[in-house]
Amino acid sequence: MTVLSVLLFTAQAGAAQVAPIQYWCPVMSAPADSHVETFDYKGIRYFGCCTGCAEKFAADPEKYIEAIEGSQHLVGQALYDPVSRMRVKAGGAHPRLQYKGIMYTFENADDLTKFKDAPESFTKTPDKEVLKCPVLDVTNPEPALNPSYYDADGVRIYLCCHGCINPTHFHKDEYTAKAKPLAAKCAVHIVTADGLKKEAEAN
Ligand SMILES: [Zn+2]
Ligand SMILES: [Zn+2]
Repeated sequence: MTVLSVLLFTAQAGAAQVAPIQYWCPVMSAPADSHVETFDYKGIRYFGCCTGCAEKFAADPEKYIEAIEGSQHLVGQALYDPVSRMRVKAGGAHPRLQYKGIMYTFENADDLTKFKDAPESFTKTPDKEVLKCPVLDVTNPEPALNPSYYDADGVRIYLCCHGCINPTHFHKDEYTAKAKPLAAKCAVHIVTADGLKKEAEAN
């Protein structure tokens, strides 16, 4: 990132819905400045440049993911610190790193260092997911509203609130066994205006 873009980013960080960094549409390989569509897949947020890009992406996400990994452009935005697995908001003073077309945001410098030491171990994502929290049986209306998750037995299990994180540390096997029958292939989730509003309100 250039010094100029860092300065621009800092200046705009307080403004809602402003894209401080330019993301490219993963489907058309064109700048997605206006964020016509916003969609999430495996914890990464993508922006479509025109109506229909999300649908095309959803039809064969892995095909586009492969292209992103070799892209020189910034294409996706990680929703979670991949080390702590906590939901992070892009912007603010958090450390960031662009890796294989994705911008990762970290809760702190320690997480960034751990990631740099072994990025592949943190970017590997299961192919299946469970959106119903096994602790409270709550399903948030959009996956990005979940504050955290954990990966077990080839499944990413989302946790509906902060209070559900500790129980899954202490009774991991029990909750994994409960969640696993609900595992479905990771889907592309279209983010609605309402979802974005809820995200902005969440702490
Ligand atoms: Zn597009
Ligand atoms: Zn929960």
